Amino acid sequence: MFCYRCGKEAPLVGGLCRECYAKEHSLFSMAERYAVVACKTCDSFQLEEWMSFEHVEDIVERLMQKEAGKLKLVFMEDFDEPRHEYVQVLYALTYYEEGYWGVQARFLGFDDPFSSIPILEPHDFELHFKFTVCPSCSKKYGGYYEAVLQIRRDGRFLTKEEKDSFLAEVTSLSEEETRQFNMGFITQVRIRKEGIDFQMGSLKVTKKIARALQSRYGGTVSESYRLCGFDRQAGKERYRTTVVLRLSSYEEGRFVFFEERLWKVAGATDKLILRSFAEERVLDFKKVEKEQAATSLSLVDEACLTPGMIASLDDDYAEVLMMDTYETIPLSRACVPEGAQQGDAVRLYERDGIRYIVSP
Ligand SMILES: [Zn+2]
Ligand SMILES: [Zn+2]
Repeated sequence: MFCYRCGKEAPLVGGLCRECYAKEHSLFSMAERYAVVACKTCDSFQLEEWMSFEHVEDIVERLMQKEAGKLKLVFMEDFDEPRHEYVQVLYALTYYEEGYWGVQARFLGFDDPFSSIPILEPHDFELHFKFTVCPSCSKKYGGYYEAVLQIRRDGRFLTKEEKDSFLAEVTSLSEEETRQFNMGFITQVRIRKEGIDFQMGSLKVTKKIARALQSRYGGTVSESYRLCGFDRQAGKERYRTTVVLRLSSYEEGRFVFFEERLWKVAGATDKLILRSFAEERVLDFKKVEKEQAATSLSLVDEACLTPGMIASLDDDYAEVLMMDTYETIPLSRACVPEGAQQGDAVRLYERDGIRYIVSP
């Protein structure tokens, strides 16, 4: 059999010898010149949609993969045996003083999954950058925001230290998000008397950050919506969402009254941990809300606690020496927590004529 292209006598594939098959068939085609639209204020470029990049190589590789379509490209240091599973790519980048990049690329693979003839194909092309402001940067610098993240605490205002630490933490979480998703930015921060507010470019990121903070510091996350205008482009009403992270008033170190006992809060992150000497109770925050509503759980103001020391303790009798008055007062044995011993420092609390003690 003779090749219809070169006339050589050889085993043929579709009427062509191996050499002619490799010449006639192509892996995919590429243009000689590409205009790449990139943002002049952030590292993102447009290839159908806007995406971020770190190096020019990221753009070159995405562009080649887009042109290769379904063929999977693998970028190599050196060519390996040709594979049917993917096309191997070697390329070099050159920057020209005229202000564009030249790419010299070679591809090695098969144009057809059943073909046994590897194709080595060069594609040289140029990348010309065109700079503009990407949609997310124009929104960011235009003061656009989609959601507000508010951080508050039940029962009191946030301290300056708390506000500073949330400012640093939310800023770094937002920067982390912006690396993958360019709407993750903060447009504005408002320090308020009661807490701190962040205007954010994306509702999705706002919720994600609120959940991340909640898993670290506990509290509840709630959302509310407010109509803020009409989006002509989308032809629908626009809502702005406020996501509130409300931290619990049950902070570590505070004292609470629960189950006819006085406790010190030992932890309040994902669960409320109450301790007094050897005793411990662990409540999830749903339970906390329920108990609080039923008034069986309540905070005790530290000013109502007086320091003392267990002066004597036996099976049916207990006495506390008050540190402020040096007076010794009796205590119901049932009100002494397990693990408490004579000589231990305590805080004493009186409620409805009954005295309770807790580890300080
Ligand atoms: Zn031939
Ligand atoms: Zn941008």
